[in-house]
Amino acid sequence: MGARIMVEMPHVRPVIDGRWHITNLTRWPAPGATVTTICGVSETAEYSDTPPQEVVRTCWHCDFVYRKEAGIPWYGSSPHPATQAEEPSR
Ligand SMILES: [Zn+2]
Repeated sequence: MGARIMVEMPHVRPVIDGRWHITNLTRWPAPGATVTTICGVSETAEYSDTPPQEVVRTCWHCDFVYRKEAGIPWYGSSPHPATQAEEPSR
């Protein structure tokens, strides 16, 4: 019996243009399939077994949408970054 690798889909975060995004995936997208994030960015799914070579940052637009849908308030000392950042790329 081998080691079964389990991944919970809500924890899968696609990295697009150096930002962690959030999706509503229910299953692994096939390589080449289109993945759409909750902030509205769409990109082709690809897989890599090497870590990113750059610092990966949070997509604040996804964070904002996720918090709103889950009812999670923002307790930052300043307004949520998505209210001050430019629109998501693409
Ligand atoms: Zn996003």
